[in-house]
Amino acid sequence: MTKSPAIDIRIWGARGTFTIPGPDTLEFGGHTCCVEVRAGGRVMIFDAGSGIVPLGEALSGEAVTEIDLFFSHAHYDHIMGLPFFQPAFCDKTKLRIWAGHMLDGSTPETMVAGIFRPPYFPITKDWMRAQIEYHQFSPGDVLNPAADVQLQTGALCHPNGAVGYRLETSGASFAYLTDFEHDGGSGDATIERLARDADLALLDATYTPQEYPHFAGFGHSTWDECGALCAKAGVKQWGLFHHMHLRTDTEQGVIETAAQAAYPNAFAVRQGQRIALPKLAET
Ligand SMILES: [Zn+2]
Ligand SMILES: [Zn+2]
Repeated sequence: MTKSPAIDIRIWGARGTFTIPGPDTLEFGGHTCCVEVRAGGRVMIFDAGSGIVPLGEALSGEAVTEIDLFFSHAHYDHIMGLPFFQPAFCDKTKLRIWAGHMLDGSTPETMVAGIFRPPYFPITKDWMRAQIEYHQFSPGDVLNPAADVQLQTGALCHPNGAVGYRLETSGASFAYLTDFEHDGGSGDATIERLARDADLALLDATYTPQEYPHFAGFGHSTWDECGALCAKAGVKQWGLFHHMHLRTDTEQGVIETAAQAAYPNAFAVRQGQRIALPKLAET
């Protein structure tokens, strides 16, 4: 009998900025950010990019009725799938929506209302039949979505704000750190805090070091800066995430090879990839 992992992670979307379906993105995937995490008997989702649409179909098929959805922030590539997330339209679903990135006085509920807003979308959020709870928090807060699951949070350096997460349970740890630009200051310190000795961290590696000077200030980082941050933080394994939207599989493969030459514990995250982190006693 296989033992259940402490944290079971499945990637439903690893792309940043925009979906890019087609034959050139089959390996790394075209869906935008969405990561499913199962831990402590709970289903948690990080971001509602387009990858949450097939995830919703899968959860409905499994009759999952309790879901926690954590937003890093509300840029399109992280919210665009929510109006098509099937469990949100089922009255048996208990859906808890968490967000803490807001710098403009909005709340998780007003954020969701803004996603479902005619004429940009034909129905309002009140069409969702799920029992929805909205949870607002401040970056730095520690959340306990389940009794034995702890989530640390922190503010990332990104336009309009973004939140990074660190999930811990049963001695295993996973950090979800997307949409940040290395800043050599408090943003980097937050990354290091949330990634400290993590078993796995996913980080915003949108640009190559060569591309970055053209995009400085856009709010995204590079694989070499991510590698340096992970080395400082003692991360065991880390994934390049939030792939640039126009990047083909061939180009992304070249980037992965370059990153692995410098950091053997790095890999480029693939849509559909599954990573199980064992309980401490099993390592
Ligand atoms: Zn993004
Ligand atoms: Zn963003």
